[in-house]
Amino acid sequence: MPSVHVIGSGVSGLACAYYLQKVGCDVTLSTASSGCDENCCSWWAGGMLAPFCEQESAEPLIGTLGKESMAFWRQLASVTKLDYCANGSLVVAPARDQALKRSFERLTRNHQRLDHAQLIALEPDLDHFQQGLFYPDEAHIQPRLATKVLWHELGRMNVILNTEHYLDEASLVNARNEYDWQIDCRGLAAQSELDDLRGVKGEMLHIYSDEVRLSRPVRLLHPRYPLYIVPRPEQQFMVGATMIEANTSRNATVRSVLELLSAAYVVHPAFAEAEIVEIGVDIRPAFNDNLPKIRRYGNQLYVNGLYRHGYLAAPALARRVSDIITNDYFCTEVVDANYP
Ligand SMILES: Cc1cc2nc3c(=O)[nH]c(=O)nc-3n(C[C@H](O)[C@H](O)[C@H](O)COP(=O)(O)OP(=O)(O)OC[C@H]3O[C@@H](n4cnc5c(N)ncnc54)[C@H](O)[C@@H]3O)c2cc1C
Repeated sequence: MPSVHVIGSGVSGLACAYYLQKVGCDVTLSTASSGCDENCCSWWAGGMLAPFCEQESAEPLIGTLGKESMAFWRQLASVTKLDYCANGSLVVAPARDQALKRSFERLTRNHQRLDHAQLIALEPDLDHFQQGLFYPDEAHIQPRLATKVLWHELGRMNVILNTEHYLDEASLVNARNEYDWQIDCRGLAAQSELDDLRGVKGEMLHIYSDEVRLSRPVRLLHPRYPLYIVPRPEQQFMVGATMIEANTSRNATVRSVLELLSAAYVVHPAFAEAEIVEIGVDIRPAFNDNLPKIRRYGNQLYVNGLYRHGYLAAPALARRVSDIITNDYFCTEVVDANYP
């Protein structure tokens, strides 16, 4: 079986290494980070697996990749300590913004309309919303735990793991000659070679409140500050996320934090007393159409452009990468036709 060098330990690199080792390739993974840490976009994600809600703004391909990836995470959770929460997700809007809810409902599928009684039967703390939309087939995971679990599995499967191994331009070329295949999963760092890759800044917070109980992700539709809240263990909540066209990952702005927290307060007034545990920022790698791509240049594949769908798309992309390498099978839906 071929030797494969995977670069990057974000969700895309980890998923590729996992699939390739599973099908018998001889995999080495090199990463600039210590393995799983805050130095990658994947660390800051919400971990929402929401292929149906995403239809509001995404192409159908995201739904296809998403459903396949969800099966992967569910299976991984059944044999590891990954927590796969398959209790759906909710969408709510303040009374004056019901037009937004109707529009969201029209654009998405696989939902149920909830009246007040049905809504509070699912989430009693959303008592002040009169209606909602329920997406029963959606799920969420803890992204940091997911990357740690994958990292641990790679070690167990004898993947060679090179940590704190930053590859500059020359070493990228040299490494490419050492292996049968090289899979570049550097996220936004590959921008110098993928010149149509752009950055979309995302800011998020972790807050702690022992007064709010939520058991599934909640999206708030709002004309200025749409947001989602994902419950985490021990009464923490991930509040996210801004979407700003920007290539740098400087700190979060006051405006963004104010807006995110104002919207959280709309979801539940008790969030006013929540403690801010962490404020995070990273840049999502995205192509112009906001769809992920696999590009091939000789024996090198780039897996990139995961945008806001890293956890939703990475396992499905990784499976396609392993098909390309082991069966020479090119799945045209994600392989960019402009790049032979
Ligand atoms: C606030 C926020 C919320 C999000 N929420 C969600 C969500 O709910 N659901 C979802 O599916 N997605 C979400 N996303 C999107 C998701 O996080 C990204 O799509 C995904 O993390 C991209 O993963 P990646 O592996 O391509 O890149 P990254 O995670 O950035 O990984 C890149 C890796 O490459 C390594 N690297 C870079 N350069 C080099 C080099 N020269 N040599 C060696 N190693 C190198 C880095 O160390 C890193 O390990 C969110 C993103 C943000 C910012």
